[in-house]
Amino acid sequence: MSRSEDIRNEVYRFLRQQKEFRYPDPILPGFKGIGKGSAIAAASTAAGATRKTAAGTIATTAPASAPAAARTDLAGARAELGECTRCGLHGQRTNLVFGVGNPNAKLMFIGEAPGADEDRKGEPFVGRAGQLLDKIFAAAEIRREDVYITNIVKCRPPGNRDPHPDEVTTCNPFLLQQIDAIQPQLICALGRFAAQTLLDKTEGIGRLRGRWFDWHGKRLICTYHPSACLRNESYKRPVWNDFQMLRDAYKELVEN
Ligand code: SF4
Repeated sequence: MSRSEDIRNEVYRFLRQQKEFRYPDPILPGFKGIGKGSAIAAASTAAGATRKTAAGTIATTAPASAPAAARTDLAGARAELGECTRCGLHGQRTNLVFGVGNPNAKLMFIGEAPGADEDRKGEPFVGRAGQLLDKIFAAAEIRREDVYITNIVKCRPPGNRDPHPDEVTTCNPFLLQQIDAIQPQLICALGRFAAQTLLDKTEGIGRLRGRWFDWHGKRLICTYHPSACLRNESYKRPVWNDFQMLRDAYKELVEN
């Protein structure tokens, strides 16, 4: 991916955020959101049991197409993934970024995809966005080692573009395996893409954040991605509001 394509993708993301905040958008007047957040739900609907909630159609079991669907062991899921070449994202990755943290975490964070730093190090949220996330964790009294952090897809999309629906669908069984193995009671979707994908919604993150959803019987909250906060300071306040809700729910879980 060339530098100019990187810049184009960054500009496109910024404009989309502006649109979500309903600022005038002279460049993308017809933009209505990506509308492809249904990849996980679509895959699950096709192959696994589903149910309807206020949050939309969700998978209640790992889809039948999931490799070793009954597996609930995190290390086993990682082994099953191997040096994955199941979708086109494998071609330009340096490292596959599976996830890190407590395998028995009560709280799980799910972002979109690895970025350049994550691709280089093989760990999620280790670049500037990760450093900001660490600061938010510290302020919310959440210890990074107590939670589990992963992404919707495990390989970096070229130029940090959004993962394509077929890439999400292909990687989805492994995310479901991770959730199944960890059994978190709280999930936080970091950013528009993770929120729309998990919830099968096309609303912007500005509308999805700040409230709890029922997801597989777990409580799910969405907030802005830390990298969005780095681009736009005005997102920091709503993120802190969301993290205060998360902190209170997490504290209650840990203390009881
Ligand atoms: S993104 Fe997921 S499915 Fe695609 S190559 Fe990477 S691990 Fe495999």
